[in-house]
Amino acid sequence: MVTTKTHAALLASPGLGHLIPTVELSKRLTTHHGFDVTIFVVTTATDSSETTKSPILQQISNLNGIDIIVTPPVDVSDKLDPKNPSLGLQIVLTMLESLPFIRSQILSMKFPPSVLIVDLFGTMALPMARDLNMSTYVFFATNAWFSAVTMYLPFITDEAFSRHANNHQPLLIPGCEPVRFEDTLETFVSPWGPIHEGYVNAARSILSVDGILMNTWKDLEPGATKAVNDHDILGQFIKRPVYPVGPLVRTVEPVEKKEGESENEDLILGWLDRQPAESVIYLSFGSGGTMSEVQMRELAYGLELSQQRFIWVVKQPVQGDACAAFFDTMKDGNGFTVEDYLPEGFVSRTKNVGNCVPLWAPQAEILKHPATGGFVTHCGWNSVLESILSGVPMVAWPLYAEQKMNATMLSEELGVAVRATAAEGGVVCREQIAELIRRVMVEKEGIAMRVKVKEYKISGEKALSVFGSSHESLCQMAKDCELHDLSQSSHEAKARGA
Ligand code: UDP
Repeated sequence: MVTTKTHAALLASPGLGHLIPTVELSKRLTTHHGFDVTIFVVTTATDSSETTKSPILQQISNLNGIDIIVTPPVDVSDKLDPKNPSLGLQIVLTMLESLPFIRSQILSMKFPPSVLIVDLFGTMALPMARDLNMSTYVFFATNAWFSAVTMYLPFITDEAFSRHANNHQPLLIPGCEPVRFEDTLETFVSPWGPIHEGYVNAARSILSVDGILMNTWKDLEPGATKAVNDHDILGQFIKRPVYPVGPLVRTVEPVEKKEGESENEDLILGWLDRQPAESVIYLSFGSGGTMSEVQMRELAYGLELSQQRFIWVVKQPVQGDACAAFFDTMKDGNGFTVEDYLPEGFVSRTKNVGNCVPLWAPQAEILKHPATGGFVTHCGWNSVLESILSGVPMVAWPLYAEQKMNATMLSEELGVAVRATAAEGGVVCREQIAELIRRVMVEKEGIAMRVKVKEYKISGEKALSVFGSSHESLCQMAKDCELHDLSQSSHEAKARGA
């Protein structure tokens, strides 16, 4: 890369849900703000081949101004508790082990980057960046509410954490909605172990960066986006510029198809072409979401009861682990077929109204399709933004990470979703599933939600347009990076005695 432009390195932590927003931010930086970008795609031993083959990387591999470096796969399994291999810890350890490679790559570049942008799992790279005189940014690929909770973590007292964990009192975050215990993060359920400590330390290091980016926009979250920058509210603790730069979501772009590769996608989209407008409910639980076999069967019966057309991305069921496919999205359990786990006769009974797609579907394309009228989602933030920007209301069915907070925001604040609640035993029953789907697809409530979600779609598009709030935020960040570059070159010139 030969450049006089600002050159930023972005670190994408493992998992497609982390790679996608990093790619979208990179596209925005190169096409609208004149940056050159190098993306370091960090991979684990299990996801490396899948990530490198992913259409997401294929799409950007031809874009001007973006270089991609896939780090050698890292296996950290010997450092994890086999009975409880925490997803967060696995990601953090993988990032740590990949750092020497990233550093050596940066040092060997003819025009090394002057800016480092990491996601929430990449904060251990910040000291390296400072050592190399780079300016540092953290990109929260999520909403302002969860970002605010993370940034406020170092200021939450042990007493407040205990009241939350033991007495189920809400966690209070200045200027933001409190976090109810029912919606809390796994690490806050027993906030005393090394994983919690690691999270607080990462939060502390975020407060030393040059700026913080969030994948949201002011009109979607007026309270939280104001609080993080307001020096009378949360800004007094954060003391860093916080830029809402979203909604950055995957755009639907044609991919050069290799023979046989996209047949499945063509079949799904072709089937959608033949369905009436807004008549199909799409069900998917992200790149990694999994459920038990009992829950899958209940979901199948619920779908039948709802009497709606559907596309369902079916993954192999896993008992007791809601994110079992996170590093292994395409894991097919040795040739699994969807019929193996669904009620007998389900696939043939629903063949005229439904499509069960194994493992992966072209979600961005499906949500944008005029025949899609609703989305049953695990509330991963990429999925949420894709749904909003397609004007599609949701059934919120959170599984892990900050997804319960997202579900609360969607159903209680924004009014664009209804929420599934598991009964005792952790299973959402078929009657509830059918009722929720019908509420979104055919009842008056669904019509009102559709109107609201389309208003947010328009406000999101406006935020990204020239002079829109998110566009302006990223312009400001780009200017700050340029200033850093200028002061850096004048330091270097002085040091050379020029
Ligand atoms: N995705 C997809 N097809 C699938 C499942 C997921 O294209 O079958 C994409 C989806 O469009 C989104 C991303 O994978 O961009 C999932 O990110 P999200 O934040 O929603 O959830 P995560 O996978 O990180 O839990």
